[in-house]
Amino acid sequence: MTGKGTILLIEDEPDIADLLRMYLEKDGFRLVHAASGEDGLQRLDERDPRVVLLDIGLPGIDGIEVCRRIRSTSDVPVIMLTARDSEIDKIVGLEIGADDYVTKPFSPRELVARVKAVLRRSEERPIVPKVIELGGFTIDSGRREVVTPSGEVIRPTAREFDLLWYLAEHRGLVLSRNQILEAVWGYDYFGETRTVDVHIRQLRKKLEGIPIETVWGVGYRLGD
Ligand code: CA
Repeated sequence: MTGKGTILLIEDEPDIADLLRMYLEKDGFRLVHAASGEDGLQRLDERDPRVVLLDIGLPGIDGIEVCRRIRSTSDVPVIMLTARDSEIDKIVGLEIGADDYVTKPFSPRELVARVKAVLRRSEERPIVPKVIELGGFTIDSGRREVVTPSGEVIRPTAREFDLLWYLAEHRGLVLSRNQILEAVWGYDYFGETRTVDVHIRQLRKKLEGIPIETVWGVGYRLGD
């Protein structure tokens, strides 16, 4: 069965590759496996996958560098596979352009859910661009950029922008981390609500003065 297209897995652990092949093929995807970054980049060219699953710890060039190289030529969705929770901050902080990440060990079902979510999102861009003005910031969903009160144009990463846009469309409302995960990440994120905090932190850093309030014990609110 190849009906849903090709997924490229760049991962040096054969056990993980076998397991993911079984689950993805059961779901109608075709898995192409590359055991090194160099091999993966070549397969990306040849096979034109719909999603790339990319391990960070690889022999030769590491996953972070592979992601950078992918991004210099392609906007294919990339899901990073990380060995440690602490690496998530690193991936987000480096802004290498990954769309999502999972921490090992992960359940194959969870990963398949994320593949589907990432595909859904990449096919569901807003059709009618809109602009929301808020606290001196202009948030433009067509250009996916933000103009600061001082006139500087900032382009957040894709996920950061989706998060900001969701908050902006619901401004004034208190949104729980779970609500945000479901809306922005597209599905139940298995309780990994810390992801939201990491992205909020990045937004506050990039958009100094953006009125995102922390509502203790609940979540976040974008004020006016
Ligand atoms: Ca590895």
